[in-house]
Amino acid sequence: MRIFGEHHDLFRATVRSFVEKEIAPHVEEWEAAGRLPRWIWPRMGELGLLGVEYDEKYGGAGADLLTTMVLHEECARSRSGSFAMAVGVHTDMASPHLYWTGSEPLREKYLPAICRGEKLTAIAVTEPGGGSDVAAIRTRAVRDGDHYVVNGSKMFITNGATADLVFLAARVEAGDERRRHRGISMFLVERETPGFTVSRTLDKMGMRASDTAELSFQDMRVPAEHLLGREGVGFYEVMRVFQRERLVAGLHAVAMADRALEDTIAYVQERQAFGGPLSDKQVVRHRVADLATLIEAGRALTYAACLRYAAGEDAVREVSMVKLFTAEMVNRVAYDCVQLHGGYGYMREYPVERFARDARLLTIGGGTSEIMKDVIARTLLGR
Ligand SMILES: Cc1cc2nc3c(=O)[nH]c(=O)nc-3n(C[C@H](O)[C@H](O)[C@H](O)COP(=O)(O)OP(=O)(O)OC[C@H]3O[C@@H](n4cnc5c(N)ncnc54)[C@H](O)[C@@H]3O)c2cc1C
Repeated sequence: MRIFGEHHDLFRATVRSFVEKEIAPHVEEWEAAGRLPRWIWPRMGELGLLGVEYDEKYGGAGADLLTTMVLHEECARSRSGSFAMAVGVHTDMASPHLYWTGSEPLREKYLPAICRGEKLTAIAVTEPGGGSDVAAIRTRAVRDGDHYVVNGSKMFITNGATADLVFLAARVEAGDERRRHRGISMFLVERETPGFTVSRTLDKMGMRASDTAELSFQDMRVPAEHLLGREGVGFYEVMRVFQRERLVAGLHAVAMADRALEDTIAYVQERQAFGGPLSDKQVVRHRVADLATLIEAGRALTYAACLRYAAGEDAVREVSMVKLFTAEMVNRVAYDCVQLHGGYGYMREYPVERFARDARLLTIGGGTSEIMKDVIARTLLGR
């Protein structure tokens, strides 16, 4: 499916070269260390990879969604889900809250540093008590003069331990059942704010080089001008940015699956069993054919939803289908690619082992498969 132009191809070559030369050689070291080094952010800023769609006056490139698609496909080809996820959070899940709803002075103050990679961002919505039910947020922000006083905690926050700026969802109104979607607001919080604590960094099954943290806020005073958008519309803003986040998750899933299948094809062509390469056995050939077909289906669904979204059309159903289908697809690909590697597929020294652990997150993070089915069903059947 050809949707990219020549300038996208040139951009792809830049990102691919950066990923191959500067990211891929370090992936195992960063997995073992459990973190990504700080230098990647200013380096990506220097290459113009952060904020590609943001206006040039804020340090962005003023490019289109297809450019963003290329960025995320190439980051996911790195064989590091952690790297791809950390970039995706910074560029397309956290900072859009500022770009879309921040006041002009806030944008001017923070966006250039975000685009240069000097300030890393995180998005803090999920709480220890639950993530799927966003309207159930309990973190409170109470207005006190020209500040809001925030108390509460957030769970599973990507880039949480290292981010300089956190986009935080908090309840500004004690919501009763009927108004629970209406009392939530988004805030821009600087990590240096007194009362902001990284309670702990979490030990994970996969995505091990990405930092995932629990955050807590105790009488944290956030300037009132750091409120993003109108008070009380935060739930709808979270849902709006979720559409972008879920498209990025789909792009990651397809590109990760693509890379793993490439690795697996090389492996089965090399590996000998019963007097010939594995790739000669019909069962293996059919399995590879099935996986390639699934990946192409995922790509077609994702590209179609991206184009619809880019055209400004309502794409909630399509985006949810992308998130659901590609997350399940990449896990099927992961299972089969490990199987085709035999015992080596279970060994840390083979990237396919990391791929299987990284892929597992995709049916959970950014909206679970069950929640995606609920959203799709709602668009078909109503409430
Ligand atoms: C590595 C990692 C990184 C993350 N990064 C971020 C981040 O940067 N920022 C952020 O805010 N969050 C982040 N999350 C949180 C993530 O979005 C949530 O984990 C996810 O939304 C699910 O919420 P939960 O874990 O509380 O599960 P729950 O909501 O408790 O759900 C548990 C299970 O119940 C199912 N379930 C829940 N409600 C229903 C229902 N109505 N019908 C049927 N089944 C249901 C779910 O599908 C799931 O299978 C991250 C999570 C992980 C693991």
